Order: sequence, then structure tokens, then C-alpha cells
Amino acid sequence: DPRAEVIASSIRVVPNFPKPGIMFQDITTLLLDPIAFKNVVDMFVERYTGMGISVVAGIEARGFIFGSPIALAIGAKFVPLRKPRKLPGEVIAEKYDLEYGTDCLEMHVGAVQPGERVLVVDDLVATGGTLCAAISLIERVGAEVVECACVIELPELKGRERLRDKPLYILVESR
Ligand code: IMP
Repeated sequence: DPRAEVIASSIRVVPNFPKPGIMFQDITTLLLDPIAFKNVVDMFVERYTGMGISVVAGIEARGFIFGSPIALAIGAKFVPLRKPRKLPGEVIAEKYDLEYGTDCLEMHVGAVQPGERVLVVDDLVATGGTLCAAISLIERVGAEVVECACVIELPELKGRERLRDKPLYILVESR
């Protein structure tokens, strides 16, 4: 798909951010290019239209940017999966490991109902830890994760293996 090339070339790679040795994939430059941004939304919307998905769950913060237009276009509700102490209502929480330390995602109780078909959206999959936590939150309330969708995969970190049987769809690969 030639649209993927437009997307790939709009992503800026920033060496040594946020710390030495990291090649940070910066999607803010993609957002500055309306054609590239539209390509991302269009490619996901084409894939997920008519699949009976009633929830798009976006991971804070960049999963909100891509997840919201997808939810609107496919007629699904949007559910934010947030960092701790951001959501005001009753939440369930899922901790996950980072390279150093841990992090946590929270979801409002009642936002997703048992049996609902859910698409999880984020900008990038690295080790897959974040997506695993998102999947756990959704499965804990009895809903089904149909697929995880990210703009970028860092294949060297083998996040896909960590998701085991859960399908992962990406638009571009990076190193
Ligand atoms: P994982 O949990 O190791 O798969 O890391 C994925 C999470 O970290 C996602 O929420 C990403 O937004 C963020 N992340 C990791 N590396 C990058 C990067 O190079 N650019 C943008 N986000 C990143």
C-alpha cells in the first residue's frame, strides 16, 4: 500500500531521546502532515469497518490521537486507558513492567460491557508490555480484544511474541 510509505517518511526519528541509546519514533511530524495522518486513519478504518467492533480503547496519550477518529468513523465508542489517578470514577488497574520499574493503566468500570468486541489502539509497540496490560483490562471485564492496532512496530523487541495469539496489525516497521 503506497500510503504506508507516506506514513513512514513522515515519522521523525530522534536519536538519544528520552535517554542515550534510544531511537525515538516521533509521530508529531506525522500529525503535521494531513495526508499522512489521514492515511493512518483511512487504513485502520478500512480494516475495521463492518467487523462488529463496538469499542475502540486508546492508550494514553498517543493512542487517543489515533483511536478517536477511528472510533467516530466506525461508529464505536471510545474508551481511554489512562495512567494512574487520571480517571475520576471507579477504575480497574493493571500494572506492567518497564525496563526500569513499573507502570500502570486504568480503565473506568462500566465503560466496556461483557461480550463487547474491542479494538486496542496505540501509536507504537516496542516490548508489547503496554498492549498486554490493555488486553488484560479488557478481558477482566469479560470483553473480547479483536485486534491491537499500532502505527509503528519495533520488530527487534519482539512485542508480537509477547501478545501470543492476539492479532497485532501495524502500518510501518522501524528499527
Ligand atoms: P512497550 O510497552 O515496550 O511495547 O512500549 C510501548 C509504549 O511506549 C507505547 O505506549 C508507546 O507510545 C511508547 N513508546 C516506546 N517507544 C516509543 C518511541 O520510540 N516513540 C513513541 N512512543 C514510544
